[in-house]
Amino acid sequence: MSDVDNAKRRVFLEVCHRIYRKGFAAANDGNVSCRWSDNFLTTPTGLCKGDLKNDDLIIVDSQGNIVEGKLKPSSELPMHLAIYRLRPDVQAVVHAHPPYCTGFATAGIPLEQCVLPEIVMTLGSVPLTRYGTPSTEEIPSAISEVITKSDAVLLANHGAVTVGKDLMNAYYKLERIEHFAHILFIARQLGGEVRLSPEQVSKLYELRRESGAAGLNAGCITCNTLFSDECGVQGCALKKDDDAGSGGGDDLNSIIQAARNIFNNKRRD
Ligand SMILES: [Zn+2]
Repeated sequence: MSDVDNAKRRVFLEVCHRIYRKGFAAANDGNVSCRWSDNFLTTPTGLCKGDLKNDDLIIVDSQGNIVEGKLKPSSELPMHLAIYRLRPDVQAVVHAHPPYCTGFATAGIPLEQCVLPEIVMTLGSVPLTRYGTPSTEEIPSAISEVITKSDAVLLANHGAVTVGKDLMNAYYKLERIEHFAHILFIARQLGGEVRLSPEQVSKLYELRRESGAAGLNAGCITCNTLFSDECGVQGCALKKDDDAGSGGGDDLNSIIQAARNIFNNKRRD
């Protein structure tokens, strides 16, 4: 194995270990993957992320067939593969159950409030999917509806998924939205958050665009444009004259169907 591959595997394991150490996943929960040439490196089912070793990792192809490794992949692998099909720009996917994010996801509350400048600047809002039964094709289907608009998503009554240009980038987005959810939770104990005004959000979007960080944004409560194609806030990534915001990839329905096919063919644990 090349030095580059070895280094990537070390980062992969570091991300898994951090997820467990930070309390983002209990027992065997959570799963991680990254692109590996034309295939994908991913976590096995049934093992604690805090204990994972190099030998435990699995390489699968785009259909979920095992290419290398002695263990079975996570039952949520079809969700990861659906994301890679929809988002050619994504190099890594992280899924876990961070308590504050999962609390909001369980209460049915998306993180769409424009409250913290660093969240508006980096992620925009964090949408909530409709509920899907774990380990079924319902989750790939539900996430396919929102992952083209955001790098961070809450899964209803389940947990959170983040994607990124590399493994640490995806991991840090998970850490960032958990921190946001924690702060929002505290603010609500103190009487409720004060939302940024449309003018304040506009300034942040301008800065975001100037910094070259403009990208996906699922919309926000401030301009009441969630999942629409046109945002009212100046500088928002959802402006039609902005070419950012396109997840690229294939037709959504065919992606969802492909995820269903993989799940039906490869059902595990
Ligand atoms: Zn899960």
